Amino acid sequence: MDAVYDVAVIGGGPAGVTAAIYTKRKLLRTILITKDIGGQVLLTANIENYPGFVERSGGRLADYFEQQLSDLGVDIAYDTVRAVSRESDLFRIECEERELLSRTVIATGGSSHKRLDIPGEKEFFGKGVFVCATCDAPLTKNKVVAVVGGGNAAFQSAELLSKYATKVYLLHRRSDYRADGLLVERVKRLGNVEMMRDTVVKEIKGKDKVEAITVEDLNTGRRSDLVVQRVFVEIGRELKVDYLKGLVKTNERGQVVVDKLQRTSCEGVFAAGEITDLPYGQAIISAGQGAVAGLAAFDYLASKKFEPT
Ligand SMILES: Cc1cc2nc3c(=O)[nH]c(=O)nc-3n(C[C@H](O)[C@H](O)[C@H](O)COP(=O)(O)OP(=O)(O)OC[C@H]3O[C@@H](n4cnc5c(N)ncnc54)[C@H](O)[C@@H]3O)c2cc1C
Repeated sequence: MDAVYDVAVIGGGPAGVTAAIYTKRKLLRTILITKDIGGQVLLTANIENYPGFVERSGGRLADYFEQQLSDLGVDIAYDTVRAVSRESDLFRIECEERELLSRTVIATGGSSHKRLDIPGEKEFFGKGVFVCATCDAPLTKNKVVAVVGGGNAAFQSAELLSKYATKVYLLHRRSDYRADGLLVERVKRLGNVEMMRDTVVKEIKGKDKVEAITVEDLNTGRRSDLVVQRVFVEIGRELKVDYLKGLVKTNERGQVVVDKLQRTSCEGVFAAGEITDLPYGQAIISAGQGAVAGLAAFDYLASKKFEPT
């Protein structure tokens, strides 16, 4: 018989780490299954809006996550979850290297931003090339900025960045936009946003910092350079929810639908952080949802008259 956990937390970003801290402190038998500890925080050079954390380096914050989990004695399985399925009143969690049974599941797989995969993007990532306008908008003060994308995220970013930057180029590879019409109209009215359609970015250039981008007009094939100091890549994100397929309800964007206690449509399965249908992606928000999910999982088990081990 496999070991049975009370709570299996999937994902080691802010949401999963917080959920595991809460369930472990409730003396629930907790396992955290994750590919890494930190999640997207590991990609964050400068985190300035996580209360109480003043050191700024995302890597450092992830170190603290790891230390706190270790101090509490949370079991960590470094593995990739492939599928979660119901097995009578338990859940079977199939990973690449192991299988586990648990009474509850807290899913926090997060997301990853799609990349352009062009020269210069990797070299300047976090140093002129960004993926999160909410996080990095202040770095565009008095700069010229390019936002790449044609969906709501790109338009919302352009709208926000227009308040800081002197000029914003909004570059889209197609002739029509996926963003909501009202949002498009609002951005069109902004005096410092120039919208360029049928345009692809071929390269991000600069010596030690971003100085220009090379763009191609898809109608004429003509290439030209735009002088910019910041680039925001907003071409979509991939939600890490495959392993929940068929188990929980998702919305038209593929986000897991949760109630205010982070409960999904499947009893015993909770979700927190960027995979949920909350429209904000921030470390503190994921952590807050993780705390709620941990407490709600405890209450759920208590309602089943289950005694912690
Ligand atoms: C470059 C960058 C800068 C940012 N700057 C800031 C900032 O300044 N301030 C701020 O508040 N936020 C910032 N963010 C956003 C913030 O990092 C995220 O909102 C937050 O990390 C989301 O937390 P999460 O726990 O929901 O998901 P994630 O951080 O994405 O964590 C998901 C976890 O799940 C694991 N996982 C995924 N799939 C599986 C699977 N199948 N099996 C096992 N494990 C799995 C991943 O390995 C990861 O550990 C930034 C993000 C980026 C990319």
